[in-house]
Amino acid sequence: MFTRHHKVWPKELPKTMTLPKTSVFTNLEISARRYPDHTAIIYYDTRMTYQTLLDEVEALAGWLQNNGVKKGDRVLLYMQNSPQYVISYYAILRADAVVIPVNPMNRASELEHYISDTSATVCLAGVELAGFIAPLVGQTYLEQVVVAAYGTYVRQPTDLNLPAEVAAEPQPLKGPGLISWEDALNAGNSPAEHTAGPEDLAVIPYSSGTTGQPKGCVHVHRGVMATAVHRSFWNVTSVDSVQLCTLPFFHVTGMTGSMNSPIYAGSTMVIMTRWDRDVAGTLIERYKVTGWTNIVTMAVDFLSNPNLKNYDISSLVTIGGGGAAMPEAVARKLHTLTGLDYIEGYGLSETMAATHINPPDNPKAQCLGIPVFDVDSRIIDVDTLEEKGPGEVGEIVSNGPQVTVGYWNRPAETEAAFVEIDGKKFFRTGDLAYYDEDGYFFMVDRVKRMINASGFKVWPSEVESMMYQHPSIHEVCIISAPHEKRGETVKAVVVLTPEAEGLTTEQEIIAWCKEQMAAYKVPSMVEFVSELPKSPTGKLMWRALQEEEWKKQA
Ligand code: AMP
Repeated sequence: MFTRHHKVWPKELPKTMTLPKTSVFTNLEISARRYPDHTAIIYYDTRMTYQTLLDEVEALAGWLQNNGVKKGDRVLLYMQNSPQYVISYYAILRADAVVIPVNPMNRASELEHYISDTSATVCLAGVELAGFIAPLVGQTYLEQVVVAAYGTYVRQPTDLNLPAEVAAEPQPLKGPGLISWEDALNAGNSPAEHTAGPEDLAVIPYSSGTTGQPKGCVHVHRGVMATAVHRSFWNVTSVDSVQLCTLPFFHVTGMTGSMNSPIYAGSTMVIMTRWDRDVAGTLIERYKVTGWTNIVTMAVDFLSNPNLKNYDISSLVTIGGGGAAMPEAVARKLHTLTGLDYIEGYGLSETMAATHINPPDNPKAQCLGIPVFDVDSRIIDVDTLEEKGPGEVGEIVSNGPQVTVGYWNRPAETEAAFVEIDGKKFFRTGDLAYYDEDGYFFMVDRVKRMINASGFKVWPSEVESMMYQHPSIHEVCIISAPHEKRGETVKAVVVLTPEAEGLTTEQEIIAWCKEQMAAYKVPSMVEFVSELPKSPTGKLMWRALQEEEWKKQA
């Protein structure tokens, strides 16, 4: 199937694909059989082969099953990028269980929400995060936490600058329910036969969608497989490719472009736990990296490095990303330095990353791209739901194998997220765009209430409900404000209680927020007002406040 909007298509690719009817774990098993001695992972100069990766996955899957994880059970994965992340993700799938990827910046109240929503009893956590999750053992459904010290996988001497959490010496674990990564893997458990198939649950990343609190976007193996395979074909990724993995694996773009797609192709993943532009430059040169999926802020930082000229980055063949718009000036700078076009893509947590990508041989600037294999994407009127033609702005709706099967345990929100066109269910993205005569999509605005701070998505209603717990706050409205580097930032417009007026300061509120929520959600500005604008029905007029803010700062 090839939708009627496309006129342009990468020359060497088919327009539709037959996907493997197997689980995502099977991709690793196949790559390990085909290329057992090929390097799967390079972690700060230490190599791990595909066979070793598979062996570690089997050992951890055995431990999970031996500790009560059954088919369909949800397991929290709360870690930064590392070999342990890849092993954990594939071990959960190998055990026929479901990955709940958690942003490592999330803290107590956010973690409690994930645990209560998914009833997860086991969490696989990075060592620097253990202190946030450990207090929830026994207080929630959570019973056990496997703690991974990243540095134990750096087994060769390295001259690279290691992030603190990688360089740290492993410490003895204290507290009930905690077990070290090594003890879990050395427990000697073997997993039972793998039974998950294409329609079984695989991964549930969280997103607020167009409204409300974070909801789990349910993806079955078929959907996760779709973007792993699509990405690999689209970028012509093969066993000879070397991917630099700097986007977080917990987010769908990193999960697909930097982990699932390379594993499907049997490529090598060069993993960094924290972004460092000089380490990235060295790794690209040292390991002849061919592909790098990133986000605007990383690309900007990399290109503005005065040391950049010291690195030979000529091995790069594909650079691209998504999640936020790539400014034209940055794309031009990239082209001047490398001769490469930035391959921008577009998608959501609900679509397991890309539904649209620019064709590598025919990209357009500041463009979301064209719908990928088997994706039918249309533009509709937000109110009447009528379909629009080329050049007309409306909401992007998409149908394709990678689209979520729904929100976890939320039938009403799931129903509201889809619209039926020509007998097919299309997911409503909440993004406003148009497509041109060639079928390329261009983003214009958002219908949904979301702030995109250089790719980190902030949902105002979630921040507001946390801020309402502050004793001095009578009313609060979270809006987007322009920011030079991040594109957008978070601003709180606050009405204080009469007792707090003139006493509570902006700094106090920001400091309080830092303790309550992930850093990227914390307002960088607080404005105090005497009242918030409301509609006649009492609805908060956040859009008016937001538009005013953008006009003010223009
Ligand atoms: P997430 O669920 O975190 O992946 O966020 C999805 C949202 O990111 C989309 O609904 C868009 O608003 C935004 N987004 C994704 N890709 C792009 C892009 N290439 N340009 C601008 N915004 C994007």
